[in-house]
Amino acid sequence: MSSLEIINLSASINGTEILKGLSLKVPKGEVHAIMGPNGSGKSTLAKVMAGHEDYIVTDGDVLLDGKSLLEMDIDERSREGLFLAFQYPAEIPGVSNANFLRAARQARLPEGEEIDAVAFYKEIYSKMDQLGMDRKFTGRSVNEGFSGGEKKRNEVLQMMMLEPSYAVLDETDSGLDIDALKIVAEGVNAMRSPDRGFLVITHYQRLLDYIVPDHVHVLSDGQIIKSGSKDLALELEEKGYDWLKEEGLIKA
Ligand code: ADP
Ligand code: MG
Repeated sequence: MSSLEIINLSASINGTEILKGLSLKVPKGEVHAIMGPNGSGKSTLAKVMAGHEDYIVTDGDVLLDGKSLLEMDIDERSREGLFLAFQYPAEIPGVSNANFLRAARQARLPEGEEIDAVAFYKEIYSKMDQLGMDRKFTGRSVNEGFSGGEKKRNEVLQMMMLEPSYAVLDETDSGLDIDALKIVAEGVNAMRSPDRGFLVITHYQRLLDYIVPDHVHVLSDGQIIKSGSKDLALELEEKGYDWLKEEGLIKA
């Protein structure tokens, strides 16, 4: 029961089917990686789980600890323990980073309970220090004018503050130089726990040198076409995605 389970999921945008019966199960305590060529549907999967309104689910389901995610409101998905870090994080002008996180934390408290502001700031500063983020980012509007790398660190900060049961990270490595990548990976690794599952989406193997996955899945044309151990990522790095075509797994 304690898993994020994607069952035979099909979804389309503007009448084009992008996910074509995708199945994948991430039990708590495990880190799964999804790799795949550009355009294979990786970000679509993340956006469908987030409840993005442009996507229509045509078949299948996603279960969060046995409960249908697709039937939940968007904010409910988050309160139930799902966190998504997007490839292109949204900017929220006029809402400071600190207020945004405070509101998200407040929404998780029982009725009538108030956040302890002093403890909240102590915690956010300590996490920002861990991620090498300047404290001035608490006062800036969420992601507005942030560089690519700053946005990615900010996504990880959000994840650290929300302590989700399941985190889906879409190309959190893109836009990061190697030092920033290591810091972000350390942040993720520090959160690995028997009570948490991760789905790490990446085009490149490099991230998986630092966030070592328990399982690797290859997404192609909207389906998982191969699964394996972390060694599969190395094989993909070495041979590219074309050898799967030669094996007849990817439709040419
Ligand atoms: P990935 O993250 O694996 O690179 P995406 O999930 O972003 O892939 O995209 C999957 C496919 O969906 C791509 O072929 C892309 O062109 C297509 N797609 C994305 N948005 C739209 C849209 N608005 N209309 C039609 N096709 C789209
Ligand atoms: Mg993508």
